[in-house]
Parts: sequence; structure tokens; C-alpha cells
Amino acid sequence: MLIPCFACESRFRPDEYFRACHDYNRGMDLVAWTCPRCGNRDELRILPGELGFGYPRHGRFDVCDRVRVPGLRRRRQDLRLDISLDKEVWRVPTRLRGLVGAH
Ligand SMILES: [Zn+2]
Repeated sequence: MLIPCFACESRFRPDEYFRACHDYNRGMDLVAWTCPRCGNRDELRILPGELGFGYPRHGRFDVCDRVRVPGLRRRRQDLRLDISLDKEVWRVPTRLRGLVGAH
């Protein structure tokens, strides 16, 4: 199973794809993803069994495209999101905006 980049249409194995996730936005429940091939940055929501792509609107995120990833699981931790598939786990940390470097 391969997961596409919507910008350059490269396809990635889950390990390659989830390693490129960074910055978990806990408030919006989104992870940022930067394509290792073309550098395009996207935001997506990790859902049980699928990835949700969409657009922020009125302070919410509307999922309009879904990519099925059978067996995908997620677990919210204090300052990160754990993504797991089969026996692998990828940890996406939350960047502390406004706490680090304020004042
Ligand atoms: Zn790309």
C-alpha cells in the first residue's frame, strides 16, 4: 500500500510517509507533512484506518479527501501524536508555539 503526495504524485511506503510528519497541532488535530521529494507542505488528520485531507475553514478542518490505510491507529499523548501501523510507531511532537521564545 502506497500513500500519495497530492502535489507531485510521488507515492510513499507508510514508513517513509509517516517519518515525514512533523508538528502535531493538538488544537486542530492535524499533523504537518513535508514531501521528501518535492518539499510540498500539507496538513492532514490521522484517523483510524485512514488519512483525512482537507481545508481549514472557520477555525475547523473540513476533511474532504480520504486515503484508506487499513490498520492505521492513532493515540493522542500530552505533547505528541503516536501513529501506529502493524508493529511500527511514529511519534509526531507538538511544537510549543507561544511558549518557547515568548518574551
Ligand atoms: Zn511531493
